[in-house]
Amino acid sequence: MARISTYALDAKPEINDKVIGTDNGIGEAQRTKNYSLREVMALFNERNLVAVADQVIFKFQDDITEGRETGTISFEAGGGDGATMSSFSDIIVSYKNSGDILISDYIKTFLDRDIIIAEMGNINNFVTCKLVDIEGSTCSRCYALKLQKLRPSVDTGWTNNLFKAVKMIKENPKLWAKMVSFQIERGCKKLGVNYHRWFDSGDLQSVDMLHAIALSAELTPNIKHWLPTREAKLVKQYRKQYGTEPSNLVIRVSATMISDKPIKGHENTSTVHRKGEAIHGKECLAYRTNKDAKVVSSEAFKVMTREEKKEQDFGHCGDCRACWSKDVANISYPLH
Ligand code: SF4
Repeated sequence: MARISTYALDAKPEINDKVIGTDNGIGEAQRTKNYSLREVMALFNERNLVAVADQVIFKFQDDITEGRETGTISFEAGGGDGATMSSFSDIIVSYKNSGDILISDYIKTFLDRDIIIAEMGNINNFVTCKLVDIEGSTCSRCYALKLQKLRPSVDTGWTNNLFKAVKMIKENPKLWAKMVSFQIERGCKKLGVNYHRWFDSGDLQSVDMLHAIALSAELTPNIKHWLPTREAKLVKQYRKQYGTEPSNLVIRVSATMISDKPIKGHENTSTVHRKGEAIHGKECLAYRTNKDAKVVSSEAFKVMTREEKKEQDFGHCGDCRACWSKDVANISYPLH
């Protein structure tokens, strides 16, 4: 074999060209071998050896009969090999990347952000989605996600409503606000209340949507509006663009993770605490407020049986309207 330094330089290497290297063995196994550039690049990708900010590589796992492997993405029920990514709905993502490195902290930075999942080697096969659920995030216990799985037809209805609202807000936000405020007023009148909560599930989609909601609040000055949201950034952008929201609209920005402290930079916030943890601000007592608006003491609640709790039908606001009050800085919801 000639000296390597005497070989000519190839200024334009091709993907199928080969390079010489030494196998990572011991003794006899430590042999000189050829490696194709394609295989070397595949190794870099599979093991996540090239760090690119805002990008993580996972393997797609089709067969989950023996459990979900680390470093993979997969469907809840498995399968899906060869599927078009745009048909994906729920995708489960590992806490480790394909190089078996723990990325749980890094992945939290994607929470609530739009992300793109694309097939390597076929970038046109992609889907844009949102990371909504990390174990330990406030959304991971969301009742709406459970309902979404239980009743797919309800989910389809919600999604269609959302698309219609987004389209109309873009085309004519004032008309949308007028129509929505008419419905809110009608509903409040029927129930004999003057409180309205935005979003029993879902969240703000854009600054335009928050602007349209603020217009609806302006059109209904006698009704108090409470808007729970995780979109702290959108709220800041809205205030920069449009100034302070109407006084009858309380925008309560929720913490991202269970046990987190209130988000800074917002006057009205909410958190979620586990049993025995510190409560920031006012604790929500809906979990022991019964259908007759009676708040059962924590001592009495502790000794109640499951049947007794069911009978009491807990989970009501009763006389409490703290969420609608600008004077209540933070409300802490117990995890249940
Ligand atoms: S209004 Fe009161 S009871 Fe109702 S969710 Fe808010 S804090 Fe809980």
